[in-house]
Amino acid sequence: ERYLLEIKGLKTYFFTDEGVIAAVDGVDIRIREGETVGIVGESGSGKSVTSLSAMRLTPGKVVDGSITFDGKDILALPEERMREIRGNQMAIIFQEPMTSLNPVFTIGDQIGEVVRIHMKYTKAQARERAVEMLRLVGIPRAEQIVDEYPHRLSGGMRQRVMIAMAMACDPKLLIADEPTTALDVTIQAQILDLMRELKEKKGTAILLITHDLGVVAEMCDRVVVMYDGKVVEESDVVTLFTNPQHPYTQGLMKSMPTLDSQEKRLYSIKGSVPAQGTVREGCSFAPRCDKAMDLCRIQPPPLERIERGHLSRCWLHTSDEGRSAHESSAH
Ligand code: SF4
Ligand code: MG
Repeated sequence: ERYLLEIKGLKTYFFTDEGVIAAVDGVDIRIREGETVGIVGESGSGKSVTSLSAMRLTPGKVVDGSITFDGKDILALPEERMREIRGNQMAIIFQEPMTSLNPVFTIGDQIGEVVRIHMKYTKAQARERAVEMLRLVGIPRAEQIVDEYPHRLSGGMRQRVMIAMAMACDPKLLIADEPTTALDVTIQAQILDLMRELKEKKGTAILLITHDLGVVAEMCDRVVVMYDGKVVEESDVVTLFTNPQHPYTQGLMKSMPTLDSQEKRLYSIKGSVPAQGTVREGCSFAPRCDKAMDLCRIQPPPLERIERGHLSRCWLHTSDEGRSAHESSAH
């Protein structure tokens, strides 16, 4: 099968004075054209570094693996070719629109800049395209807003501008890193609606990075759960919510606020993601896992296929000890 983006065995390391940090430690991610794939995990799980690696924007060093986008070997491209792809075929939006927008240029200049570089538009064409994009993302009075500066807009409006900018060249892939985390709930819902609408209209594939399972449920076709630099579970979205297999995913599900307990967290996974750079033996989730066995502390579990399209990295599925423990708890 041909994928739009195929990340294989990616390892992105940070070389620091205190030692080597394996922020991404052997990750596979595949996205088909038009598909929305979520990467879920707590902060420090490696999800942002994975996506930044795909755009060759990570401050870390890719030490192993391959990244193929639209048939191109991303890691082998000269920087100049990479710049043509970035923003044009692969675009990214972040959590904090204010830090990505330049305060001294108008909204129109900034959206226009993207299309002038990539689509060789004239100044007039670029402004026209900017207005068109502002309309597309539901910004009222686009004709006036186009000449405004970013600080004149609310957070929600600024995120719309970022999306307009990202979509201006009709990218095949939009990477959205916590796109709604900084926004209040109502605006968050509007931005998600907008992304879904654009995806349907334009057929854009989305790689959505989030810690929020609610966002995943609303947006994604497939989900990859990351923990400590590794994929621990992967499946289609329905399976993930109805039949989560990895103890970490099960914990995330339990800690998800439900409708009648909006703010209250019923459960939270004890402990936290290991400090990056921690030397681990065995399963890195073991210190937080209720089901940890002796084996878990010695040997790292492999990522195994449980059923078609469903992978999990846990000894409960694959070791004899794990299977019998699993069975006896089920009886
Ligand atoms: Fe828990 Fe062991 Fe599975 Fe790791 S391998 S998630 S410690 S049961
Ligand atoms: Mg992040």
